Amino acid sequence: MHELIDHPCVQHKLAIIRDVETGHKRFRELAKEITKFVCYEALKNIKVKEVKVQTPIAEATCKKIDTDLVVVPVLRAGIGMLEGILELVPTARVGFVGMYRDEVTKEPVSYYERLPTQVKGGTCILIDPMLATGGSTAAAIKALKGAGAGQIVVVCIVTCPEGLELVEQEHPDVTIYAAAIDKCLDERKYIVPGLGDAGDRLFGTTH
Ligand code: URA
Repeated sequence: MHELIDHPCVQHKLAIIRDVETGHKRFRELAKEITKFVCYEALKNIKVKEVKVQTPIAEATCKKIDTDLVVVPVLRAGIGMLEGILELVPTARVGFVGMYRDEVTKEPVSYYERLPTQVKGGTCILIDPMLATGGSTAAAIKALKGAGAGQIVVVCIVTCPEGLELVEQEHPDVTIYAAAIDKCLDERKYIVPGLGDAGDRLFGTTH
């Protein structure tokens, strides 16, 4: 399952972040702003509990989040989305997964994994700006499931049909939220039109 966040405020920011003329400082700011909007939508179905709160006037029946939240950036570009989601859910814990693609087998290989124990039974939000082939996302979801995650949602900025298809096929129980579903992948596995290499644009590096 996937959901496109087609709100004009998100789409306006997306138009700027895609622009090749947008430098790394602005790119970082926009990645954070877009993430916040997309995560706001992605968290709309998380578990809440009813609580009573005494206001200066009377008792109010309110709702509070009732699940351990674990944000998991996929290294390295996922780091660029971390600040945005933590502004929304400041008490969330943070885990990390690092993946690279084996040049021979073309399969994703995990080179780093550090997850808080609260993953077990908790709600994990996997963040990666570009869901391209879907290979590393699917592998990261598998790692989270292996650690006992209760619910998993994926938040990205841009994805494409190829990536959605692979992740949805392997993990039909996981919902993917994105600000854009682009046309396709090119021969280098970049999303077209996409926004280029998100890691390089976030951190001001070049190949
Ligand atoms: N990773 C990126 O940073 N960009 C793409 O287009 C695809 C994968």
